[in-house]
Amino acid sequence: MNDQNTPDPLSPLMHEIQNRRDDLIALTQDLIRIPTLNPPGDCYRDICEYLDQRLSKHGFTTQLIRAHGTPGDSEKYPRWNIIARREGKSAGDCVHFNSHIDVVEVGHGWTQDPFGGALIDGKIYGRGACDMKGGLAASIIAAEAFIDMHPEFHGAIEISGTGDEESGGYGGVAYLAEKGFFSPKRVQHVIIPEPLNKDRVCLGHRGGWWAEIETFGEIAHGSMPFLGDCAVRHMGAVIDKFETDLYPAMALRHTEMPVVPEGARQSTMNINSIHGGQPEQDDDFTGLPAHCVPDSCRVVIDRRFLVEENIDDVRGEVTGLLDSLKAERPKFSYELRELNRVLPSMTDKNAPVAASLAKQIAKVMGKEAEFVASPGTYDQKHINRIGKLENCVAYGPGILELAHKPDEYIGVEDMMVSVQVMARSLAELLLPTKE
Ligand SMILES: [Zn+2]
Repeated sequence: MNDQNTPDPLSPLMHEIQNRRDDLIALTQDLIRIPTLNPPGDCYRDICEYLDQRLSKHGFTTQLIRAHGTPGDSEKYPRWNIIARREGKSAGDCVHFNSHIDVVEVGHGWTQDPFGGALIDGKIYGRGACDMKGGLAASIIAAEAFIDMHPEFHGAIEISGTGDEESGGYGGVAYLAEKGFFSPKRVQHVIIPEPLNKDRVCLGHRGGWWAEIETFGEIAHGSMPFLGDCAVRHMGAVIDKFETDLYPAMALRHTEMPVVPEGARQSTMNINSIHGGQPEQDDDFTGLPAHCVPDSCRVVIDRRFLVEENIDDVRGEVTGLLDSLKAERPKFSYELRELNRVLPSMTDKNAPVAASLAKQIAKVMGKEAEFVASPGTYDQKHINRIGKLENCVAYGPGILELAHKPDEYIGVEDMMVSVQVMARSLAELLLPTKE
C-alpha cells in the first residue's frame, strides 16, 4: 500500500506531466477540429498525417496503412490508419495504445460547435472529445513524457489511430490484426483508451449475435384471408414465443462479468425492427393501401450474450423455438439469416496490463480501481480473436455516459489523471527497476 515515508521514484515524471497540461489541451483541440465523421469515414488521411507529424518528431517510426477493400473503403473515403512505434534502449515488452480516430454523427441539441474544441470551465467540447480523442491525446502525452524522462526504457511503445470502430472496426483494428500488427510476438500489452471513466479498468465485453428472421405466407385478397396465409400472424407467434419462453429464460442467466450498467449483467435481446406486408409509401402519398394478405414478414434481432454462454447455444435456442412453431402452426415456415456474430471477450483481472493500471489508479487517485465490462462490443474483439492477444483492456478518461451525446466533452482534469496512470503503467511495464 501507499507508504507515505518512501519518496515516489516517479515524481519527476509526474511533475513533467503537470508541465504538459497546455500541450494536452492543444492536442485534444487539434484532434477534435479534424471532423473524422463515420459514416462516411471522412478526413481519416488528414488525422493520420497530423499524428504522423506529431509522433515522428518524438522518435516514433510511423506507418500509414490503408485498409483496401474493407467495407466503405473507396477513393473518396479511403480507410487510413496509422501505427507508430518507438523502440527503447533494449529488447523487452511492447505496450500498445490503440485509439479509434472516427467519430459518430453530430445529431441535434448542441449548444457548442461540435468541431470547435472550445475550452470552457476545464472541459473541452466537441464530437469525439470523450469518445475518444481525449483518450488518444492522453495516451500520446503519457508516452511522450515517459520517453523524454526515461529514455533508458526497455522494449517498445506503440500508438495506433484506427478507423471505423464505430461501424465495426473492419477497416481499422480488424484489418491491422489480420496483417499481424497485434500478434503476441510483436505486442504484449494493449490499452484502448475508450471512455470508461478514469478510475475503471474495462476487462472486456459481452458477445453479440445479430440475425434476420423471415416468416412466409401466401398472398390473397384481404376480404378472404382464409384463401391466403398471413406472414404477420406467423411472426406474431414468433414474438409470442420470445415473450413466453426466451425472455424469461434469458432473465435468469446472470454473469460473473462485471458489466456496467447493472441491467446489462444478464443475457439481453433487442428486437431491432419489424417489417411485414406492403412496403411503406412516401410521406406525400395520399392513397389507401390495397387489400392484401402479407406473404412475408421480417424481424432483425440483436442478442447480447455472456461469457458463460456458447454462441451455438444462443443460435440454437432461437432456431429451436422457431422449429417448435412448425409443429404448432400449420404452414409455418421461416428462414433465418445470420447477420453478424462477435464472441464475448474477458481479460483476466490479474493479467499484467490490467493489474498494472489498477495499481497505478490506486497510486494516483488514492482509491481502489473498479474492474468493469462493457455492455456493447468495441475493438478488443478483433485484438483477441484475430490477433490472439489476451492481455488487452480498455482504460481512458472519458465519461461513458457522454459518448455519442450532444455537447460531448472531455474534462481536462480527468485527462490529466489518466495521463499519470498511463505513464506510470509504462514505467511499471517497461523500466528495469519496477515501480
Ligand atoms: Zn469509442
